[in-house]
Amino acid sequence: MVHLGRVMTDKDISSAKVVNDIDSDDLGVPGDDDFTTSVYGSRFASTDLPRHEMPEDEMPREVAYRMIKDDLTLDGTPTLNLASFVTTYMEEEAEKLMVEAFSKNFIDYEEYPVSADIQNRCVSMIARLFNIPAHDENTNAMGTSTIGSSEAIMLGTLAMKKRWQNKRKAEGKDASRPNIVMNSAVQVCWEKAARYFDVEEKYVYCDEGRHVIDPVQAVDLVDENTIGICSILGTTYTGEYEDTKAINDLLVERNIDCPIHVDAASGGFVAPFVNPNLVWDFRLEKVVSINVSGHKYGLVYPGVGWVVWRDPEFLPKELIFNINYLGADQASFTLNFSRGASQVIGQYYQLIRLGKKGYRSIMLNLTRTADYLALSVQKMGFLLLSQTRGKGLPLVAFRLDPKYHHKFDEFAIAHHLRERGWVVPAYTMAPHANTLKMMRVVVREDFSRSRCDALIADIKLAYDAMKKMDATELAQNKERMRTHAARKPKHSMNAYAKDETHSLQGKHGKTHAVC
Ligand SMILES: *Cc1c(COP(=O)(O)O)cnc(C)c1O
Repeated sequence: MVHLGRVMTDKDISSAKVVNDIDSDDLGVPGDDDFTTSVYGSRFASTDLPRHEMPEDEMPREVAYRMIKDDLTLDGTPTLNLASFVTTYMEEEAEKLMVEAFSKNFIDYEEYPVSADIQNRCVSMIARLFNIPAHDENTNAMGTSTIGSSEAIMLGTLAMKKRWQNKRKAEGKDASRPNIVMNSAVQVCWEKAARYFDVEEKYVYCDEGRHVIDPVQAVDLVDENTIGICSILGTTYTGEYEDTKAINDLLVERNIDCPIHVDAASGGFVAPFVNPNLVWDFRLEKVVSINVSGHKYGLVYPGVGWVVWRDPEFLPKELIFNINYLGADQASFTLNFSRGASQVIGQYYQLIRLGKKGYRSIMLNLTRTADYLALSVQKMGFLLLSQTRGKGLPLVAFRLDPKYHHKFDEFAIAHHLRERGWVVPAYTMAPHANTLKMMRVVVREDFSRSRCDALIADIKLAYDAMKKMDATELAQNKERMRTHAARKPKHSMNAYAKDETHSLQGKHGKTHAVC
């Protein structure tokens, strides 16, 4: 093998005589050049891709590209993944801008001041969309871009915790046992935030009929150690909006000094357009911070979220770092340092390209499609668990009607749909309502009416097929599902943490991470 003390070019490689694992002479095949035939004629095509040990040698780029691309074809198709809220379509112009910014590190404010400024413009637009109280035209709202709502929620939690600690210390009181009040149907990142930052979780549990937080129970749980209440604008289970106004009004009425953080991960870019009269945001005096995922209904590819604070008062100064990197000072409050600038640029593109009118048209279309799907599954005999007519997120959560006493469950139907390529998750509802199983379809921008019709036809086929199965076939079907589940990829952390029972969601057997 030639070794020239530099990275070899493809030409070096293809002119090098590489010894084959299989000696082609033994096979009576003339020639042993790996690279002159085709990607699939190379020796790489007849061996498994390296898994555990970094290979000693290089491989040609077209081989690496083709082999990895082929490997990835067994992943699902993002557009058929109806489990996820995360954006799977952007316009070419947006993609172009994002690709062009791949090499920019967002944190290098000095080097890329325009990218930093674009973030600030987005923060202002989003804060105003959420009706931030009027402040000086020339000052930016307090807020930052993040990797997603999870990071945004961690920052929101940290700010509430720090502010509570400062208040307690100023009063000469114990500040060692903070707690946070939330619905047991919170997204898993709230459990993470609480555990990572040592805040006790105080849950308001759902029941069979109520899948959102009960405002009275929530406010009753507040004590002197409560750093805040989380209220969700669009729960991940049923897409319902929690009644933030009721929580706010109770806090005001009882004169309780406790802030609300609204988790508007999904609803933040839906409600303002579809349901502008719903009062859930900074119009409520107790709402101090709000997060939203740019990569959900903000319509940007994954890795962007936002968090905004009502007023600097709610963001303790000691959490903010002045990054003096390569000369420029810019305040920073994030968990990560380096990150790409593309997502922030993609968000700015969507905000100014679509404007309020564009977002409104898209969100209204999604709502109409969701309503159409909701009506269709109801006609098939399913029970609807989500809202319609824009009263919740554009998603359809539904379940089998117990009155039919079916011998199969929602997981079996989800499995059937999976074989047709659709990813429609089935899961059990949050604790205390966990005998309730359901399926959920998230309607995203690229889920057109015709694709919706195709899904409806497949749900009907799956449901009818299950209904026709006798006991033996149902048992076989169950066994197939079980062996399929056993084929899931293994990660060393899975085995390591398999007895971990802290996670509410982990304990309740969702088939797919609900995100
Ligand atoms: C998706 C979601 C999150 C987590 O957001 P990411 O952007 O995926 O980190 C948190 N809360 C709710 C309600 C969500 O829907």
